Amino acid sequence: MLENKDQERTSLEKLGEFGLIEHLTKDFKISRKSTIKGIGDDATVLDFKDKKTVISTDLLIEGVHFDLSYMPLKHLGYKAVMVNLSDIYAMNATATQITVSIAVSNRFPLEALEELYAGIATACKMYNVDLVGGDTTSSKTGLLISVTAIGEAEESSLAYRSGAKPNDLLVVTGDLGAAYMGLQVLEREKEVFKVNPNSQPDLEPYSYIVERQLKPEARKDIPDLLKKLKVHPTSMIDISDGLSSEILHLSKSSGLGIDLYEDKIPLDPTVISACEEFKMDSTLVALSGGEDYELLFTIDQKEFPKIKGNPNFTVVGHTTGENEGAFLISRNNTKIPLTAQGWNSFA
Ligand code: ADP
Ligand code: MG
Repeated sequence: MLENKDQERTSLEKLGEFGLIEHLTKDFKISRKSTIKGIGDDATVLDFKDKKTVISTDLLIEGVHFDLSYMPLKHLGYKAVMVNLSDIYAMNATATQITVSIAVSNRFPLEALEELYAGIATACKMYNVDLVGGDTTSSKTGLLISVTAIGEAEESSLAYRSGAKPNDLLVVTGDLGAAYMGLQVLEREKEVFKVNPNSQPDLEPYSYIVERQLKPEARKDIPDLLKKLKVHPTSMIDISDGLSSEILHLSKSSGLGIDLYEDKIPLDPTVISACEEFKMDSTLVALSGGEDYELLFTIDQKEFPKIKGNPNFTVVGHTTGENEGAFLISRNNTKIPLTAQGWNSFA
């Protein structure tokens, strides 16, 4: 993408730091009542009245968290925002503002940063969050992008990792493993492309899983839906590193055991077929794959009727007693301890 000689390349030096910031942020509009002062002063001013403020930051580094050879910059901008909004929704809160900090080497032309900010702008619009600040600096190597997301919530609706109670139901949104299998497809195409640069990959059969990798969506709808259904999650976390590692976090923070049932794990049919093609175990992919950005939460059993039959939710297990450990109950009914393999397990 960056190599395309037909595209215009305006060097960053021409604009200077202030010109660059102005150019990248001028079309962003403020839409949240809680934003008193956005970009353009020494600091941002926000007002959440009697609500609690929720803040989360992530840092993404080229070559570590993303690979620009198959990740278009627009998608990267979008994804960097999603990763952070997901953390706000995982507190059962509403995301309201973001700040974006970037470090770029002069190998990037202005047009590349415009793409990055186009993705950020789309995310802000779709998720109704204001871009209210950031920082811009140079880097000697690749691209670094750090997003801070800010949100608000009533104190009573906040969901911490530590709040699960014994015998709560464990619930997951959406389906798992697709982002990881999408990555497998993209990695394979990258290798094919290295050997034959004229190859035209047919990604059509993989569109769902590739999209889940390149354009993940944070579950903005879930805190709203839970509120509407009058369900109060006792604990909640987002699934960024794989189901296994997130279950261990809930288990440890809440001081409780958790049993997860293998046959309940929600998988899209295209994930199952991709796993067959790549000779991977779909349960392991869901447990350790990561980057699904679904939400995992616990609820009191009494609340089950409120979520029963809702296509957004799957009950995958339950909490057990104090410090009983986290286990996978396999299809043939054996109890296997869960380990925090997370993302690195396939490395
Ligand atoms: P300072 O010298 O106080 O760090 P800057 O010149 O870095 O101020 O930033 C000027 C304004 O532009 C501030 O409101 C800052 O938050 C915002 N800003 C700087 N870089 C970015 C960026 N990459 N994206 C969005 N806003 C930015
Ligand atoms: Mg600055």
